[in-house]
Amino acid sequence: MTASIAATHAKGKFATDKIFEAAAAANKAAGKYGKDKVINATIGAILDDQEILVCLPAVEKVFRNLPINEVINYAPIAGLPEFLEAATALTFADNRPEAYTNAVATAGGSGVIHHTIWNYSEIGDTVLTSDWYWDPYNVLCQEALRNLDTYTLFDEAQNFNIRSFEAKVNEVLIKQNNLITIINAPAHNPTGYSLSDCEWENVLEVIKSAAKDQSKRLIVLVDIAYLDYAGEKNECRTFLRKFSNLPDNVLIVLGFSMSKGYTMYGQRTGAMIGLSSSQQVVEEFGKINQYTSRATWSNINRGCMRLLATIYQDKAILAQVEKERSHYYALIRERSDIFVREAKAVNLNMLPYIAGFFLTIPSQNPDAVCSKLHDDNIFAVPLGKGVRIAVCAVPSAKITGMAGKVAQAIATVDK
Ligand code: PLP
Repeated sequence: MTASIAATHAKGKFATDKIFEAAAAANKAAGKYGKDKVINATIGAILDDQEILVCLPAVEKVFRNLPINEVINYAPIAGLPEFLEAATALTFADNRPEAYTNAVATAGGSGVIHHTIWNYSEIGDTVLTSDWYWDPYNVLCQEALRNLDTYTLFDEAQNFNIRSFEAKVNEVLIKQNNLITIINAPAHNPTGYSLSDCEWENVLEVIKSAAKDQSKRLIVLVDIAYLDYAGEKNECRTFLRKFSNLPDNVLIVLGFSMSKGYTMYGQRTGAMIGLSSSQQVVEEFGKINQYTSRATWSNINRGCMRLLATIYQDKAILAQVEKERSHYYALIRERSDIFVREAKAVNLNMLPYIAGFFLTIPSQNPDAVCSKLHDDNIFAVPLGKGVRIAVCAVPSAKITGMAGKVAQAIATVDK
């Protein structure tokens, strides 16, 4: 009997997704006990206080009014020029660094990660991220025949662990010449952490120091999927200015995504924005990533690209989108504030949350803690070393009391 006919590199691949598993368990409980009795903190999308998926109304209006040919037609492989201009301008706001830039449309922020790994590391290379990370980074590396390694995100004072970062960068560079480091900030998934400008400076010092060796190429992939929920527009973007005048063997890639910022999750639209002090490097960036798009998915969603361009070109619509988004930012903040306050009151140890869709409670036995929480009809996502709570998806009324229940579950399980 032939058990497998897959190629060697494909044998044994199996996608287990803890997030979807946890979400399925929550839905089952909601069917059994009623939705109002169940707290589903597994979903990585904004739900309103009625637990309905939010689409920003101004975004919906523009989307529904697009001419049909703008929805159904093919688009240029690199992306609609007006979209790329809008994505770049909206990413920087008033914080454009002194650097050459170029942009290529991608299938969401995931597409940015895919192309960066493929085009800027060698097969067999190690890609670096922090020990708390969004799971698909690993799958994306494995699929491309690369390895993911991690540094410790937090030091003893719960700040960015620059010593661990530096040690890992230098360790990996002993065995390879290209190094991609993925930094998901601001509003990191799963912790909600944002590096301060000072921490970004320290990161760039490490990168610049490694780049003194001209045989090395340093690529920093900044996953900005949650940038639009990280705080006041320009305040949370000041770190982008730090990417000015870097050595020409350093490339910054920003992963722009319309999934969260424009509530267009399933429309799969994003852009990779490359920044370098070398014009040739950004020209090459455009060419090689466009080529990989052609070879991976061809062009992406034209309608969604037109949507962003239309929003960007009309100041009144853009202001309306930003106003509506601010409302949901405030809603998430209200929910996270409740959790953080109650966690303090019951001495529940949390990782430092600054902003974003998720917060995390460290635990030795995350699976057991999540199972225990099922007794209270609370559903969260077990990670390798903690439990992730999606504050984006749980109304304030249901958040109230949750930290205490998590503390009890941890006390029972981790003792
Ligand atoms: N990066 C992080 C940390 C995420 O959490 C997500 C989505 O959940 C993404 C990137 C990419 O999202 P998308 O591919 O939908 O743009």
